[in-house]
Amino acid sequence: MGGASVSANGGIQVEVGKTRYVLDPHTHIRADYTFVSHAHVDHMHNPSKSERVIASSLTRELAEARGYDLGETVEEVDGVELLDSGHILGSRAIRIQDEVYYTGDASGRPRAFLGKCRTRQARILVMETTYGVPEYVFPSTAKLVKEVNDLIASAYDRGVPVVLMGYPLGKAQLLSYFFSSWEPLLYYESVDTMNRIHMAHGVQLKAGKRFDPSRDQDKLPHGPWVMISPMASGRSRLMAHLKKEYGAILVAFSGWALGPGYRYTMGADYSFPLSDHCDYQELINLVQAVGPEMVYTVHGFAAEFARDLRKMGFSARPLAAYQSSLSDYTKA
Ligand SMILES: [Zn+2]
Repeated sequence: MGGASVSANGGIQVEVGKTRYVLDPHTHIRADYTFVSHAHVDHMHNPSKSERVIASSLTRELAEARGYDLGETVEEVDGVELLDSGHILGSRAIRIQDEVYYTGDASGRPRAFLGKCRTRQARILVMETTYGVPEYVFPSTAKLVKEVNDLIASAYDRGVPVVLMGYPLGKAQLLSYFFSSWEPLLYYESVDTMNRIHMAHGVQLKAGKRFDPSRDQDKLPHGPWVMISPMASGRSRLMAHLKKEYGAILVAFSGWALGPGYRYTMGADYSFPLSDHCDYQELINLVQAVGPEMVYTVHGFAAEFARDLRKMGFSARPLAAYQSSLSDYTKA
């Protein structure tokens, strides 16, 4: 065994030589460095003044817009390499010497302005396994975008508006990018705020009309429009209102759409498996690219994926103390 150790308790704790790192902690944990992989709320906390935070400057900026002050962040630390993880704007994986590679949340395929997770070899791999069972293999993005455009076209033919729902940071910008040709195009306020930060960093999104639900929900046109919205249940007050008053069709976007009951759980009319995570095959590809001696799995199907890796001859086990809730479809 080499010089690194990995454990979890409210954050993933890594010791390499004499240096302690804590990765994506939910609370303050004492360490030499705190790493924040990306600006989704389940990966952030408000660090104390004494914490030295490693994060991309984009993550710091997006975090600030969401009410998290990461303080002075650094991207360059001796022995540490940050790599694009392809999950959302600014998301990074971290490699600490050639000992530990941690994916954060990672995508296995390019989408619009996002690339795919870059990998390097490491002795220990700590990886997200949100979709770590074979049922989750996603269709091509091009095919999915075509199906959704067909769905919107048929709604427009009938004079019916469409609400496209996904996480306000990440998914909503992909939806804004892929479905920008429809008019009128409305952005829910939290989506619009995130879109503007993307545009300031060179992402080509169309300016849409900002939708403030408290002010605008009774003033929308009766006729077709497309709204990009955060994920919400079709049974929520706003979505129930948009359905009843305007006849809106609700479309939810998430990798979970491949699972049983997702559309019903969300109260959506349609759902599509557009994901910002690796699918099962992409997770396997990632392990093979890193070529680790030991794999620790976190999030989602961590136990199941570790079991499959063991069958393939890898040493693998879940970091059980660091699990997020599988049932939470709407956060982030
Ligand atoms: Zn995330």
